[in-house]
Amino acid sequence: MSKKRYYIYNSDTDTYEPVIINGYKRTLIIIKRFLSGILIGIGLFAIYMHYFKSPKVRQISQERELLMIKYDIVSKRLDEALVVLNDIRQRDDNLYRVILQGDPISQQTRKASLGLAKYEDMMNLQDADLAITTNKKMDYLRRQLYIQSNSLEEISQLCRTHEDKLKKIPAIQPVSNKDLKRTASGFGWRVDPVYQTRRFHQGMDFSAPKGTPVYVTGDGIVTKAGYEQGYGNIIYVDHGHGYTTRYAHLSKFKVKKGMKVTRGTEIGLVGNTGKSTGPHLHYEVHLNGKVMNPMHYYFLDLTPDEYEAMTQIADNNGLMFD
Ligand SMILES: [Zn+2]
Repeated sequence: MSKKRYYIYNSDTDTYEPVIINGYKRTLIIIKRFLSGILIGIGLFAIYMHYFKSPKVRQISQERELLMIKYDIVSKRLDEALVVLNDIRQRDDNLYRVILQGDPISQQTRKASLGLAKYEDMMNLQDADLAITTNKKMDYLRRQLYIQSNSLEEISQLCRTHEDKLKKIPAIQPVSNKDLKRTASGFGWRVDPVYQTRRFHQGMDFSAPKGTPVYVTGDGIVTKAGYEQGYGNIIYVDHGHGYTTRYAHLSKFKVKKGMKVTRGTEIGLVGNTGKSTGPHLHYEVHLNGKVMNPMHYYFLDLTPDEYEAMTQIADNNGLMFD
């Protein structure tokens, strides 16, 4: 094998001088060129991959982007569903259960921990945060829906058992009181109209002309219709569930002891009998032997505004008819 001749320029002699390269040196040069070729190739490939993705890679990354958008939409929908659920929850706790006297659902039950264990296998995902948050929301929603459906079932049960109670508890005014003009003295400390001393007024007075109809305020049984010192002609009605009502100073009875009455039945007429300074009805509500403010028992009769107006009149009217 003949040695290949190379020439190198010599500036001193201004001539090209032959250079003898042996096989070893030549191999080294070839290897060097080969290696730099590979390096340049790799570099170009990396640049290409970075700026110009292969169709397959491009497709996958597009699909991934689409999935992320869908995930985001699901996450937002879940947020919306949770807002609606929260509204139902508020009504459940603050309206239905209050009216039906059910215990509110404990915060502990509502906020029962979901645990993190089952999300562990998602930790390694590329978009672990979004996946875990969305899955947590989904689990939370599922759990809350379950609790809520149980609660509504319980409420409909309460409605059925309270149907009877709702008919019986005093819930209207004992006289027709349009514009609240018949509202006289309310429940509480008042000046006694006869002795001029402060005394606790155990009921509510409605001023009305003699002969005005008096209505029973809930379903029940008449337990007394007779005369009583101070109260004059008085009717007692037992409503069950611990409730009784009394209607005093009547001029006439329309019912007798032992009679069954339903809410709105005319039981007597307004009068001025007993210790009274003018024709009026004195009305009392008792619950489990304790005298209550009758004002809280007109909820089938008064709007919240009317209730507010009545409170003003009853509180500011210091004079009672007894
Ligand atoms: Zn009174």
